[in-house]
Amino acid sequence: VDANAEVTGLVWLGGRRFELRRFERPLPGPGEVLVEVHRATVCGSDVHTVTGRRSAPCPSILGHEAVGRIVALGSGGRRDERGRGLGLGDRVVWGVTASCGECDRCQRGRTAKCRRLAKTGHEPLDGPWPLSGAYASHVLLDPGLAVVTVPDIVPDGVAATAACAGATVMACVEAAGPLDQRRVLVSGLGMLGITACAVAAARGAHVTGRDPDHDRRALAQRFGAAAVDAPVGSGPVDGTRFDVVLELSGAADAVAEALRVVDVGGTVALAGSVSASAPVALDPEQVVRRLLTISGIHNYEPRHLTEAVDFLTGAAGLDRVIAPPVPLDALPDLLTGQPGGPLRRSVDPRAHPTGRGG
Ligand SMILES: [Zn+2]
Ligand SMILES: [Zn+2]
Repeated sequence: VDANAEVTGLVWLGGRRFELRRFERPLPGPGEVLVEVHRATVCGSDVHTVTGRRSAPCPSILGHEAVGRIVALGSGGRRDERGRGLGLGDRVVWGVTASCGECDRCQRGRTAKCRRLAKTGHEPLDGPWPLSGAYASHVLLDPGLAVVTVPDIVPDGVAATAACAGATVMACVEAAGPLDQRRVLVSGLGMLGITACAVAAARGAHVTGRDPDHDRRALAQRFGAAAVDAPVGSGPVDGTRFDVVLELSGAADAVAEALRVVDVGGTVALAGSVSASAPVALDPEQVVRRLLTISGIHNYEPRHLTEAVDFLTGAAGLDRVIAPPVPLDALPDLLTGQPGGPLRRSVDPRAHPTGRGG
């Protein structure tokens, strides 16, 4: 490790303001790992943060979907989620939530809701974990984060999505139960939705994708959705009901529709509702008589990150939904620009700056 090396981070200053800053390169403490970021993908929640729809500490370094290689390890070493000892040069992804492992929630297997939770790409620069975000040349991994080794055959952009979209989908699918031969509706066809279509199809489900956007519906058909629909807002399409509804859009109308179209004994997994929305009416008699299960999914447990990497290792074609990477100084334009285009925009912090931003 070059002791004089520095870390370059894109610091979010609030609103749409960013600044490239240099930091002293940290020496990892016990259980910590320093990773050189090779690719970070832009999750929609970061766009919501920058455009004011979601609150976050600032100044801070955002970014929580990434892949990179280990350049330094703290004393005592570190194991990945499969129990394998990590070494210099290993290619890894890491979780969103750093947990203590000791509080009552961690002890009950809810580490994502740890009482002393810290989050990747969500920590203030003046706090104890300034280099938590992936929009930087390097990230310092907290000892409480899940780390999973990634095979080289998984493209950088696809591997990066494991940490938020991929693992969250795995948590949703776990909540939904066995999917073989089940009728599954995937509501909302962004990165999570497309991944969910692919996972559900691989598990033997009959998948329907639903989204207002024509291009995204077409994409869903390439990733395992046997049928696609635009949202209708009133009742099941053609009377079709579903055993499982994975609601990933967060739109209040879509949540209401999910509750209408789920069949007797079915499960509605809600994961898209991560910002304030209009309340949705719930008819408790329907929940009772139709034996419904409604599950909320927010973030995920370490096993879901391992499952996401396993799935993405065998999946084909997902690299087509990731835009080519830009340098760090061009990232503010992507975070504040118009929506649309590829499902995930991406940054390679090693790329030469454009000289435009920062
Ligand atoms: Zn995310
Ligand atoms: Zn805890």
